[in-house]
Amino acid sequence: MNIFTNDVMKNKVVLVTGGATGIGKGIASLFGQYGAKVMIASRKEQVLVSAAKDLQQAGVEADLCVCDIREPAAVEQLMVAVRARFGGLDILVNNAAGNFPASIEQLSPNGFKTVVDIDLNGTFNMTKAAFEHFFKSAGGNIINISAPFAGWGVAYQAHAAAAKSGIDSLTRSCAVEWQRQGIRVNAVAPGAVIDTEGLERLSDALAGDAGSTNACQASDIANCVVFLASDAARFISGEIIRVDSATGVDLLKLPST
Ligand code: NAP
Repeated sequence: MNIFTNDVMKNKVVLVTGGATGIGKGIASLFGQYGAKVMIASRKEQVLVSAAKDLQQAGVEADLCVCDIREPAAVEQLMVAVRARFGGLDILVNNAAGNFPASIEQLSPNGFKTVVDIDLNGTFNMTKAAFEHFFKSAGGNIINISAPFAGWGVAYQAHAAAAKSGIDSLTRSCAVEWQRQGIRVNAVAPGAVIDTEGLERLSDALAGDAGSTNACQASDIANCVVFLASDAARFISGEIIRVDSATGVDLLKLPST
């Protein structure tokens, strides 16, 4: 479903972390479909090359950059690459994340730290660098991908929920600090999105429970992200929007004993 005119993102430059797979790929594709120039960034080069080719074959001006968002130096290089390739940046989508199912009892300090490092610290690294390189002087738009369970308790996802809660908090703080600089910052919290590795990893380990929920599609998330990046949302900032048809709480269930 097209909710905007085809050129709504014309001349906009968007950077999507984790943009080569799952929800991120859906977001990158929809921005491209609406005329944006798209940079995708993550760690696995071959996956990026394949996704960039898909975008280009669909007529999108797209490029890729290998980057581990946990590394501030790599994030700096990514910003330099975006400027060199596209001359500026209008929209940052912080979508990259790591996850695995584990009870709190099973969770090691390193496992907890890894997810917080990727999701929360990585989002901070990207946000801060995009601000310094682009948004501070020209304004901009940031959309963080969160998760509904950040707002309540959830089984097997204490690490991800803690990281996403931090992202929600960062979203609100950035929105307040930067509102006078013409920077809007929002988050989208997807429910269980079908055909994503993220959901498969969780549902395999949990006997298919997650797959049986009322799952949405990557395009449902992408539509909300494009809306938030558009002028139609010009007075919306600091919001966390759930796109889960109110099913997010059912994503993970404790197995019956
Ligand atoms: P996914 O396909 O596993 O995507 C995660 C992406 O992040 C991958 O492209 C991965 O690429 C990248 N990434 C991971 N660690 C990175 C790092 N250190 N630096 C740079 N990139 C990194 O998962 P998804 O299901 O589409 O999830 C996308 C977003 O939606 C995530 O924020 C997730 O928490 C959120 N979400 C998903 C669901 C769902 O049902 N799928 C539900 C709620 C929220 P590399 O491995 O190549 O780096």
